[in-house]
Amino acid sequence: MTTGEAFNKLKAIMEDTHNLRAAAAVLQWDMEVCMPPKGAEARGRHLATLSACAHERFTDAAVGKLIDQLHGQADALTEDERALFNEIAYQYERATCIPEAFVRRHAKAQSAAYHAWLEARKQSDFSLFKPHLECMVNLAREKADYWGYEASPYDALLEEYERGMTVAQLRVIFDSLATRQRTLIARIMNAPNQPDLSWLEQPWNKDQQLQFTEHVLRDIGYDFAAGRQDQAAHPFTTSFSIQDVRVTTRVDERMFFSALYSSIHEGGHALYEQGYSQTDEGTLLADAPSLGMHESQSRLWENLIGRSLPFWRHYLPVARGLFPGQLDTVTPEQVYAATNRVTPSLIRVESDECTYNLHIILRFELETALIEGALDVADVPAAWNEKMATLLDIEVPDDAHGCLQDIHWSHGAFGYFPTYALGNLYAAQLFDAMTAAIPDMQEHVACGTFDTVRGWLRDNIHCVGRRKTAPDIITDVTGAAPQPDAYLNYLETKYTSLYGLS
Ligand code: ZN
Repeated sequence: MTTGEAFNKLKAIMEDTHNLRAAAAVLQWDMEVCMPPKGAEARGRHLATLSACAHERFTDAAVGKLIDQLHGQADALTEDERALFNEIAYQYERATCIPEAFVRRHAKAQSAAYHAWLEARKQSDFSLFKPHLECMVNLAREKADYWGYEASPYDALLEEYERGMTVAQLRVIFDSLATRQRTLIARIMNAPNQPDLSWLEQPWNKDQQLQFTEHVLRDIGYDFAAGRQDQAAHPFTTSFSIQDVRVTTRVDERMFFSALYSSIHEGGHALYEQGYSQTDEGTLLADAPSLGMHESQSRLWENLIGRSLPFWRHYLPVARGLFPGQLDTVTPEQVYAATNRVTPSLIRVESDECTYNLHIILRFELETALIEGALDVADVPAAWNEKMATLLDIEVPDDAHGCLQDIHWSHGAFGYFPTYALGNLYAAQLFDAMTAAIPDMQEHVACGTFDTVRGWLRDNIHCVGRRKTAPDIITDVTGAAPQPDAYLNYLETKYTSLYGLS
């Protein structure tokens, strides 16, 4: 077989696995958005068959043979073909060094752990989850051994979500975040200017809220001819191709901000998916290099743009038109202050920009200790509560509001949490680079025009796909490796003026 024939054959198999995964994603979307509750059991079977087919096709020995042949002939490929080949070889290697028997054992344990976690959280009783968490930690260690690592088994797990990042790098970054964010929070708690939130206490019509979200999504450049917005209990974005990228949001009549920021956040993810290079369609290159990079796009739109004063200078008049008589006496400065209110709280998903990373640092410290064997599962609740007191000065009333609040450990997803914090850091670094490249960007935002912002992100981030790792993209685009200073400077500048800190 010639190099060209081998490459085309490999590409065709990859296209099959992509199509199977896309079909599974449609079923998954339907499950979250439209499916009647009684359909759940059968849907589980449909999804299991589809993902098993995709996995078998992807890890077939024939794929390994083609990869072996092409390894020696990669010079004959074009640059784009070589990038795709490298990505296929990387993912094949990761997938095949895990034995089938382990994959089945893991899936079974995961399902049991998930159900135990649901019940444990409901009853706020950690003991119900403890044996399952022990099992998931052991499986994670076993998986790290299959993948291999140099310094810490956690590095191997982290690689799955944030390729190119290590525990050692994260420790340095997180130490700096924890110190400066805690100092800032303490100053804010004692600040004279606490925001006025009284105007938020009125009902906000759900249909008008949805119209508002669609208006903003359209403005930021989300293409409704290549997507749609629906409602879901836990908002998410999914994509079946570059031309079909769907977002979901959640509307609550008592909450003015909830649907809006949920939509902008998912819109940021969706612009990434709609922004991949069309020539990469259906290949492994049409994907983000890491979860942190994906999250950087949602957080950049949601926080750095959506929670800015220029944004509200433009969108408060829009909101006044949608909610007649409800916002007449409110100023853009008041909305800006209300949407940036800081309150240390128990629950990660409800926390503000200033406290959010501390929730992540807590989980990172516990996870690394569990995986490296320095912490027993039995001691997790006490360790959690102690860290909440140190990091956020908060007392945890029960495990449901403490170590049982997140779904991730029941899935065995150790190494996932740090990507949320990295998303914040990447977003701030990219925002600085973008501001330098587009000096009048804030004026565009204040006019509700986002072509330059979206264009810059598309050229520098979206089109790259998986050709480079996230740390390499950040370094190339911003001139500095991933680091905490841009985010800390952004927070300190924003909150110093908002809260009148001296
Ligand atoms: Zn997100």
